[in-house]
Amino acid sequence: MKLKIHSVTKRYQGGRKTAIDQFTAELTPGIYGLLGPNGAGKSTLMNLITDQIQPDEGEILYGGKNISKLGKSFRSILGYMPQQQRLYEDFTGRRFLWYIASLKGMRSSLAKERIQLLLNTVNLEDDADKKLGAYSGGMKQRILIAQALLNDPQLLILDEPTAGLDPKERIRIRNFISTIAADKIVLIATHVVPDIEFISKEIILLKQGRLVLKDEPHRIVAGLQ
Ligand code: ADP
Ligand code: ADP
Repeated sequence: MKLKIHSVTKRYQGGRKTAIDQFTAELTPGIYGLLGPNGAGKSTLMNLITDQIQPDEGEILYGGKNISKLGKSFRSILGYMPQQQRLYEDFTGRRFLWYIASLKGMRSSLAKERIQLLLNTVNLEDDADKKLGAYSGGMKQRILIAQALLNDPQLLILDEPTAGLDPKERIRIRNFISTIAADKIVLIATHVVPDIEFISKEIILLKQGRLVLKDEPHRIVAGLQ
C-alpha cells in the first residue's frame, strides 16, 4: 500500500501562518527520514499524516482512500510514537500498554499476547510494573516504541525517537527501528542526521513547510555539509 500526500497545505492563526505549503510526496514501504530545522513543519506534517489534524487544502490517501474517511480502519494500521512529554507518568509500563491497546480497540487476548511480546522485544519486562515517572529517558523511548507497535502497524510514524538519549542508546534504538521496518512505511522525524543517514531509503528535507528535497541519504547528506 502507498501513502500519497497530495498538495497538502495547513495554515494556523486564521490563515496567516502557513505551516505546510503544497506538500506532495508518495511513500512506499521502507524507512523515510523527515529532516528540517525547528519550525519547518515536521510536527504539523506528522499530525496531518496521523489524521490528528486535517489539511486546509489537498488530501492524504492510503491505499487510494482519504485517511479521514477511513476512520477506524486507518487507526488500526497506524502506529504513532509521540515525544516523551506526552507520557502519563502515573501509569506503570504495562498499564500504559493496556491503555493504548484499548484505545486501538484491540481484543484483550490479542493485546495480552502483543504486550508480552513487545515488553520482551524492547527489554522492559523487568520494569513493566514500575511507574513511567521512574523510567529513564531510554526506557521511556522504548515503551513509546512498544506502544506504537502494539497493532503491528503498516504505517509507523516516529517523532524524534532518539531525543534525550545518550549516544549508546541512540544507536540501539536506531538498530531496533531498522529491524522492525520490514514491509512497513516508516517515517522518522528528527534533526539528528545520523539517526536516519544509514537506515532510511530516502530523506525528505522540509523547510518553511515546503518539501525542498526527497532523495537517497548519501545525496542529501553530502549537500548538508
Ligand atoms: P517543527 O515540528 O518542524 O518544529 P511545527 O510543525 O511544530 O514545526 O511548526 C511549523 C510552524 O507552524 C511553526 O512556525 C510553528 O510556530 C507553527 N505552528 C505549529 N503549530 C501551531 C499552532 N497550533 N498554532 C499556531 N502556529 C503553529
Ligand atoms: P543486546 O543489546 O545484546 O541485543 P539486550 O538484552 O540488552 O541485548 O536487549 C535485548 C533486546 O531488547 C534487543 O535485541 C533489542 O531488541 C531490545 N532492546 C534493548 N535495548 C533497547 C533499546 N535501548 N531500544 C530498543 N530496543 C532495545
